[in-house]
Amino acid sequence: SSSLYVVATPLGNLGDISQRALDVLRGVDIIAAEDTRHSQRLLDAFGIRVRLTALHQHNEQKAADQLVHWLAEGKRVALISDAGTPAISDPGARAVARVRQAGFAVVPVPGACAAVAALSVSGFAEGGFRFVGFLPPKSAARLTVLSGLVGERDALVFYEAPHRVVECVTDMLAAFGAARELLVAREMTKLHEEIVRLPLGEAVAWFAADDNRVRGEFVLVVQGAPEPEGLSAEAERVLGLLLAELP
Ligand code: SAM
Repeated sequence: SSSLYVVATPLGNLGDISQRALDVLRGVDIIAAEDTRHSQRLLDAFGIRVRLTALHQHNEQKAADQLVHWLAEGKRVALISDAGTPAISDPGARAVARVRQAGFAVVPVPGACAAVAALSVSGFAEGGFRFVGFLPPKSAARLTVLSGLVGERDALVFYEAPHRVVECVTDMLAAFGAARELLVAREMTKLHEEIVRLPLGEAVAWFAADDNRVRGEFVLVVQGAPEPEGLSAEAERVLGLLLAELP
């Protein structure tokens, strides 16, 4: 029976498309895309002539029903987003759930993902990482979310829009303190790619030093919370009780 292929596309550099992504996109009957005009340019660049249909935030449920309908007719269908991996801070999750529920297989065709690309050059993700994605646009709500992440030991990964990146870093400084390290990954794989790692206490000045530094697309990775020194008071207390029980 038919499958839905969830296909990752490049973040910028077209060389990051995979051979399998090209094969799948060439072989399907319909490609559902977040922004069909944007994706048409990608298909044109690779000489792929396949029908595009829109699947975005505002029509996802209806578009998903249409995908199920096509799959039931035996059509081959792929899903892409504007850049990177669909359904990761992008439309697709609801469509994938709907297609699965209808009994069709959903097949990943992996490739670029901005979060993973930034993590891979951060040096922070030795343990694990926590993908946060986009923070709330208003500072009060953003600070609430950030405060809840202060004790997190894993690296934290955020997506941020250029017009909010400085505000966001300012709130990160307030929440996590000046010593916590930040990785700024700007315009990855593109002409103006810039990747720096610095303490949060230096980050606002770094952005202020050059207007170009606030342009483009950003992933921010914050180092996880440092290991607490020694045992907590509660752990000491429990350890004392346990030791007292030993023969
Ligand atoms: N689903 C995509 C993925 O997995 O890569 C992410 C989609 S999300 C709507 C777009 C955000 O991803 C941007 O605001 C930015 O935070 C990040 N991003 C995408 N391309 C990027 C790039 N070339 N360099 C840095 N960040 C990028």
